[in-house]
Amino acid sequence: MHIGLSWTRRMLAIGFVGAALLGLPGCEEEPAPVVPLPRPASEVPGYAKYLQGLKICVDPGHGGCGARPGYKRGPTGVREAEVNLRVALFLRDMLEAAGAGVVMTRTEDVHLHPDDSEDLRRRAEVANTSGADLLLSIHHNASSRPEANFVTVWYHGEVDHSPASLDVARYVSTALIDELNLPEHIGCPVLSDFQMYSGRGFAILRHTRIPAVLTEASFFTNPEEEQRLTDPEYNRREAQALFVGLARYAYGGVPRAKLIEPADGTVSRSGERRVVFELDDGLRARKSWGWERNLILGGSIHVRAGDRDIGHVYEPKDQRLLAILPPTLPSGPTTLKVQFENVFKHSNTHPTFSVHIP
Ligand SMILES: [Zn+2]
Repeated sequence: MHIGLSWTRRMLAIGFVGAALLGLPGCEEEPAPVVPLPRPASEVPGYAKYLQGLKICVDPGHGGCGARPGYKRGPTGVREAEVNLRVALFLRDMLEAAGAGVVMTRTEDVHLHPDDSEDLRRRAEVANTSGADLLLSIHHNASSRPEANFVTVWYHGEVDHSPASLDVARYVSTALIDELNLPEHIGCPVLSDFQMYSGRGFAILRHTRIPAVLTEASFFTNPEEEQRLTDPEYNRREAQALFVGLARYAYGGVPRAKLIEPADGTVSRSGERRVVFELDDGLRARKSWGWERNLILGGSIHVRAGDRDIGHVYEPKDQRLLAILPPTLPSGPTTLKVQFENVFKHSNTHPTFSVHIP
């Protein structure tokens, strides 16, 4: 029995070799074991290349406050400002290596102004005037409950204030949660700054006119976390999470609207008061497979004049959005807001336009 089986195997083997020599398809051949692809040697995901062309303002919170006793310090005196700066400098290097533009509000242990509110206003101004696409303000949290330790990422105002800020907040918060693996998870880690300061929010987010988020990655008031935060390797891990979050955001494209008509911003005096925008889904410039299809969700398009929605027609063929301003709109300057989402549900980043009605 044993010999018989062995012969069968030998004949089968001869058959395979013969088939291979004759170039016949070896349908009886056992498939080669599938070897999993090796994990990437680099921590930089391949899609981080889509950060190229994006300009990010990185704000390490606080600074220049070493002489203020007890100010933003952990139980053994570790200062939040120095942790924020270490993480921010790691992130700057990662972003620049990936080809992104980076603007820092500070690179040393300094403040931009001795008065706190003026300091925050100036940081926002750096973001507003530098041509940055978005602001990321890096902080760490404090609590009277020593064991508190969880990720939060903050946006400004009511939930509809800046949909693009929420896009960034979602990616960054989940990347931080995965990478830091902290023991606590609150029900919703993406939070409005009105939760902290009703009607005002955080000054830096309030003064910033581009998409902006503020990260509170972990709690320096937690004794174990305070010690971890003194370790540059742990700071680098946090920066890596922020980097991956931003790279995932960039991969999904950064949509934009552009005012085409009226070119000079003054609406025509005669006939219907037409306004035309060109919508860029943030992906088509890549000329990737399927790029010429419509990648903007029709139901996501809204045009607002002041506080009311106005009718519009979108023509995907040439990415043109036509809106007719209602005759009831008074003469003078009017703010129009255009919002839409691409296939990644990423909202356009600069939604506000000023036109003049004669
Ligand atoms: Zn802070």
